[in-house]
Amino acid sequence: MSIEYVPTICPYCSCGCGINLVVKDGKIIGQEPWKEHPVNQGANCPKGKNAYHYIYSEDRLKMPLVRKNGTLKETSWDEALDLVSSKLKESSPESFGFIASCRNSNEDAYVMQKFTRVVMGTNNVEYCGRLCHSPAAAALIPAMGSGAMQTSQPEIELADCICLAGVNIMETFPMIARRVFRAKAKGAKVIYTDPRKTATARHLADIHLQLRSGTDAALINAMMSIILAEGLEDKEFIASRTAGIDKLRDFLSKIDLKQAEKITGVPKDLIREAAITYAKAERGCILYDQGISQHYVGTDNVRNHANLALLCGHAGKSGSGINSMRGQINGEGSGDMGCLCVFYPGFKRVGEETAKFFEEAWGVASLPTKPGITYIDMLYKCPYLYVVGGDPTMAVPDVNNVKKALRKASFLVVQDIFPTEIAKLAHVVLPAATWVERQATHTWIDRRVQKIDKVVDPPGEAKPDWWIICRLAEKMGYKDKFDFNSAEGIFEEIRSCVPQYKGITYERLDKTVGGIHWPCPSEDHPGTPTMFLQKFNTPDGLGHFQVVEFKPPAELPDEEYPYVLTTGRSMFHYHTGTMTRRTPRLLDEVPHGFVEVNPEDASKAGIKNKDMVTLETRRGSIEAEARVTDKMPPGLLFVPFHFPDSCANVLTIPALDPSAKCAETKVCAVRMKIKT
Ligand code: SF4
Repeated sequence: MSIEYVPTICPYCSCGCGINLVVKDGKIIGQEPWKEHPVNQGANCPKGKNAYHYIYSEDRLKMPLVRKNGTLKETSWDEALDLVSSKLKESSPESFGFIASCRNSNEDAYVMQKFTRVVMGTNNVEYCGRLCHSPAAAALIPAMGSGAMQTSQPEIELADCICLAGVNIMETFPMIARRVFRAKAKGAKVIYTDPRKTATARHLADIHLQLRSGTDAALINAMMSIILAEGLEDKEFIASRTAGIDKLRDFLSKIDLKQAEKITGVPKDLIREAAITYAKAERGCILYDQGISQHYVGTDNVRNHANLALLCGHAGKSGSGINSMRGQINGEGSGDMGCLCVFYPGFKRVGEETAKFFEEAWGVASLPTKPGITYIDMLYKCPYLYVVGGDPTMAVPDVNNVKKALRKASFLVVQDIFPTEIAKLAHVVLPAATWVERQATHTWIDRRVQKIDKVVDPPGEAKPDWWIICRLAEKMGYKDKFDFNSAEGIFEEIRSCVPQYKGITYERLDKTVGGIHWPCPSEDHPGTPTMFLQKFNTPDGLGHFQVVEFKPPAELPDEEYPYVLTTGRSMFHYHTGTMTRRTPRLLDEVPHGFVEVNPEDASKAGIKNKDMVTLETRRGSIEAEARVTDKMPPGLLFVPFHFPDSCANVLTIPALDPSAKCAETKVCAVRMKIKT
């Protein structure tokens, strides 16, 4: 009998907290926070404190499954991969799509996009980052040169004004919330925009801008017009580091503050107080999340927050900038690795020049040069689909229609750790290893690359995701291009063609508690916690203002559907709940879906706390337990998206952002009645 303490990183959100696993005879039996880890310094949130239990869940996938006579039957890897290989050979570059995940490691994501491009000859490769933070790249690459977080987590404590834009940080990033509390204790002011009066509003915010869902652009335009009218813009920064102010100034001079108050529902004096507080700060830091990005105008919303940061000179110094809060363990890394239909690894844009670079790097004759199609389009347009580590039948808006399309798929492969909802529709299901059953790197929210070592063996025949893809490529005749036998071998290839990762090695990561922030151009470079200190990453090195006109949400309430529905997360669950719903202590906290309702609305509809209600939109209907709470303003309902039995995305509208193709899951019209 031997007991070991093995340090690792939490598998959940993108903070990247350290935990110590207690391992006895090859099995994890307990855990403690990793005290010296710089991200969490000895604390973990409820998810992080219950990080490993799901891996021992009874229903782990342990063998490959192949559908025979309508039923999924266990089979060998050889038979399963032979079938996948022969079916994929029937497809064309247009009819095939690969959907990777924010839960995949960097090494997994890298081989997945390489497989799609080299073997399948298409750029139809995406990951679930498309559904939440694709507006970051669409808005911030033109504005500043990168969609990644600009400051590091510890530097947030340096800010003297922190804007939490659509991020209920106390529930979704509890360890970063601690840093905001620390900054506040030193005198920082916290401005929070959210239609709900969440724990963040009650305990952390100094100024809560409780705007109407989907009116962020109008709010930021009003703030900027006040800053300019008061002469509080950073004139020196604007002159030396930005371009395009005249157009923005001209546009903002026409903003009517009374009209802004009417659109947003936020009193204009409070907008003024927020604007002046942010503009007068030495270091203003914007942290934003899905509350502003998951709209059909998500790119506009991010653009406008970038305008605000540039206007006040709150970028290019530590503890400042506009920072996208990617929610999942590898939300940054899977994008860095090129699981996007418009970017090869290292955010090299799809085109002739990029294809040539990778043809040389990978030793192949030709690679696709035209952009592929995006995540949601693939579900409808690609009859040959390969889905890894995610569940579009819960995560995508209007899921009833998505399921209809998937039932017609010619061939659907699902690779995961559990039999998810989408696995029920698959022709082949392949069992994957979890985060501590293999070695790999991930890249957390602040571009922080850390390595996770193998702690225990995967169950049955489950294998690392990269191993499965490499063996499939081998079956399809590409052994020489995918001849990887370790994650480190893949990482070495990543370093050779992704400049941001060039100086990071497994050996360095072994010695660096807390990891290394990219860009890291050489092995003697310490990494880059803060971006854009000297110049932005745009072609001219300047930050670019982009005028944003307010557009109302795609679907507004009316007589038939009188409420606005918004969706989001709970502190105790993670994404589609695949892991947290199999963790008893987390499930005890929040065992099923619910809808939050304002007391006035509940009383009008004859609804009491804990009554079961039916919610209906033009897309479908669900049932959920009512939570009557004054957290909600009148007219707004909130449903979390973790639960298949009260699946929020049955209701949501598939209106897509024209630039980023992110969906409007934060606003649609809904009606509510007590369940009959
Ligand atoms: Fe895990 Fe995130 Fe919680 Fe840290 S804050 S323990 S990374 S879920």
